[in-house]
Amino acid sequence: MRTDQLQEELDATRRRLQELTDEVARNENKMRRSQQRELRLLQAEDMGALFHEIVEGLRASYGLQAVTLVLCDPDHDVRHLLLASGTTPSEGVLFVESLSGLAPQYVALRTPWLGPYAGCDHQLILPGPPLGSVALIPLMHRGKLIGSLNFGSNDRSRFTRGHASDFLAHLGIIASYCIENVVNRARLLRSGFTDVLTGWHNRRYLQVRLKEELARASRDRGKLACLMLDVDHFKSVNDTWGHAAGDAVLRELAQRIESQVRASDVAARYGGEEFVVLLPGTGTVNGVRLAERIRTAIAATPVTLPGGESVPVTVSIGISSVAPDARSTDFKTLGEALLARADVALYKAKAEGRDRVVVESEA
Ligand code: GH3
Ligand code: MG
Ligand code: MG
Repeated sequence: MRTDQLQEELDATRRRLQELTDEVARNENKMRRSQQRELRLLQAEDMGALFHEIVEGLRASYGLQAVTLVLCDPDHDVRHLLLASGTTPSEGVLFVESLSGLAPQYVALRTPWLGPYAGCDHQLILPGPPLGSVALIPLMHRGKLIGSLNFGSNDRSRFTRGHASDFLAHLGIIASYCIENVVNRARLLRSGFTDVLTGWHNRRYLQVRLKEELARASRDRGKLACLMLDVDHFKSVNDTWGHAAGDAVLRELAQRIESQVRASDVAARYGGEEFVVLLPGTGTVNGVRLAERIRTAIAATPVTLPGGESVPVTVSIGISSVAPDARSTDFKTLGEALLARADVALYKAKAEGRDRVVVESEA
C-alpha cells in the first residue's frame, strides 16, 4: 500500500472514530438530560406541580412549540381532586370523558406515534396554531390507555416515523406512573379531609385551606369572608324525630348550602351541626348577600324526612372578614381570629332570635 493511501485510510478511520466518540457523547448528554427531566416529574409533590412540570417543564426542556396532556377522566374524579386541592387546572391539561374520536391515533396507541401534524387529526389534542410534526406518547394504567402526552414542533422533521422513540416511550411510562402516584396521594389526603355523613370537607380540611386562603389574600391584597352557620334548635329535631332523621336534615342542609356557593369557595362541616364557608376575594357586603341567600334557601322549604314528614329548619349565620396585611406571616393565628369573630357574630344571631345573619365588624 502506498504511503498516501495509508495516510488517507488512517485519516478516514480517525474521522470515523471522532464521529463515534461524538455520538456517544451526544447520547450520554441526551440520556443525562432525559434522566433530569424524569427526575423532575418524579419529584413533583402534587397534581398541580406535576401537571405544570409536564406541560411547561417538558415544553421548555425539549424546546417545543406545544405540549399538552390529555387525560381520560370519565367520573370527573381527577378534576374534583384537583379542585379540592385548591389548584386551577393548568393550561395544556385537557380532561376528556372518553378518548374515542379525539385523534385517530388513539385507536392503536401503544407506543409513541411520531409523524406530520394534520389539523383535522390533531387540532383537538394540540389546540392552537398549526404545527410541523407531532409525537403522541401513550399514557397507560394497568394495560389500559388513559391518555397521552402530546408534543408539537414547528419543525416538520422533528418527529418522523423513522425516529427512534424509545426515549419518549420511557418518558411516557414515567409520566403515567407519576400521574397515578399524585392522584392516589390526593385521594388519600382527601379521605382524611372528608366528612362521612355529608361527603363534604371536614374541619381538618377547613383549617388547611383557611391558612392557604389567608396566604393568598395577603399576597393578592384581597379579602376573605368567613360564614359560620349553626342549625337552630337542632337538638329538638333529634329529640322529636330521632338521630337518623337529624342526619338526613344535616345532609339536606349541606346540599342546600352547596347549591349557593361557587366552586372556588371552601365549604366544610365544622362540627356536629355547624358549617363554615370561606369566600375568597369577598368582604362582608357580598358575604352578607350570600349568607342571606343560604338562610332563605334553608328557611323557605321544610326538609322532607326519609319517612315523609316535613320539618321546618332554620339556621343562624355569623360573618367575619379580613384583609390580611401583605406582611402577615402567622396565618394560623389570623385564621383562628377570623373563626372566633364569626363565632361571636353567630352567638349574637342566636341571642337576637335565630334564623338571621349577623356581621362582626371588620378587623
Ligand atoms: P341552638 O339553636 O342554640 O343552636 O340550639 P341547638 O339545639 O341546635 O344546639 P345544641 O348545640 O345544644 O345542639 C346541637 C345538637 O346537634 C346536639 C347534638 O346531639 C346534635 N348533633 C351533633 N352532631 C350530630 C350528628 O351528626 N347527627 C345528629 N343527628 N345530631 C347531631
Ligand atoms: Mg351548635
Ligand atoms: Mg344549633
